[in-house]
Amino acid sequence: MVEQYTTDELKDMLRKRGIQPSFHRIQVFKYLLENRIHPTVDNIYRTLNKEIPTLSKTTIYNTLNLFAEKGLVEILTIDEREARYDIETSPHGHFKCVKCGAIYDVWDVKVGFDKKQLKGFDIGSVHVYIRGVCKNCQKSS
Ligand SMILES: [Zn+2]
Ligand SMILES: [Zn+2]
Repeated sequence: MVEQYTTDELKDMLRKRGIQPSFHRIQVFKYLLENRIHPTVDNIYRTLNKEIPTLSKTTIYNTLNLFAEKGLVEILTIDEREARYDIETSPHGHFKCVKCGAIYDVWDVKVGFDKKQLKGFDIGSVHVYIRGVCKNCQKSS
């Protein structure tokens, strides 16, 4: 189920993060909330450009970087060619299908590293990237 937000709610959510809610920023934010596919800049551009021709790829890119800076999105580098953006910022891992390119969320991933080795370090984020072939692609091959 995709949650629906009113424009006022979206504006509030952005303001709470210290982001000035411009029209374009609201549209990009709305897209991220309604399309939980870990999209690329291109995915977002292709969908939003139909309705908002004034929205450029550069604006989308800059908006996403601002969101990331403010902790609103997580930038994923699971894809070697393109950055993917995740609106879900609570800790979780990702599985990337090497056939269809889909990225799945993986919850409850236990990262088996020795925290003692990082004693005194301030850990910002931990990424778990798993690559393989998803269930759907195994069926169709
Ligand atoms: Zn697949
Ligand atoms: Zn995710």
